[in-house]
Amino acid sequence: MRFSKLRLNGFKSFVDPTDLVIADGLTGVVGPNGCGKSNLLEALRWVMGENRPTAMRGGGMEDVIFAGASTRPARNFAEVALLLDNSERLAPSGFNDNDNLEIVRRITRDAGSAYKVNTKDVRARDVQMLFADASTGAHSPALVRQGQISELINAKPKSRRRILEEAAGISGLYQRRHEAELKLKGTETNLSRVEDVIEQLA
Ligand code: ATP
Repeated sequence: MRFSKLRLNGFKSFVDPTDLVIADGLTGVVGPNGCGKSNLLEALRWVMGENRPTAMRGGGMEDVIFAGASTRPARNFAEVALLLDNSERLAPSGFNDNDNLEIVRRITRDAGSAYKVNTKDVRARDVQMLFADASTGAHSPALVRQGQISELINAKPKSRRRILEEAAGISGLYQRRHEAELKLKGTETNLSRVEDVIEQLA
């Protein structure tokens, strides 16, 4: 899977629809201070399911919506679409029947976020797992924000291990294990309830 295009609409400073073609090889983004370079990286994280406002340099999730400027009113929604080239069919199962994948996340004021993969409604978790299984995602170590290198050098071994696990593509397994444990607990509770009922009937 390869990122081929990022489309922004109403996301932070990108108020007008903007397409960013991601060509083969290394992509560099250059520009004067405050022109929106970091916003681009945040858009990439956000569409992959980032849910921490702090990772978006905001106080709340709606802060990603264009907040208005002296000449333009604020927008009511923000949308980011990420196009993936899946011609090698390396996408995780469930998403692997197309040469192209388009992941769209849209946030509307007072209505929260909605996700789509190839126009079909999906859950945030589906998108997060898609990228986790592909060894990337909102927390991918491949996305390096300002100050992150020094944070990494000073990080405790446990935090460093998490980064290595994400790079190895096994962080999705932890999420699945956690969900399986919750299901198991629920089943155990149901079983003991059934036993109580049987005892009462006996
Ligand atoms: P630097 O090189 O200084 O790090 P940069 O190119 O990375 O800058 P960003 O930090 O991506 O720039 O962009 C900051 C700009 O985005 C600021 O002008 C800020 O006002 C604008 N901005 C951030 N959030 C919003 C929002 N919700 N609505 C409108 N503009 C926003």
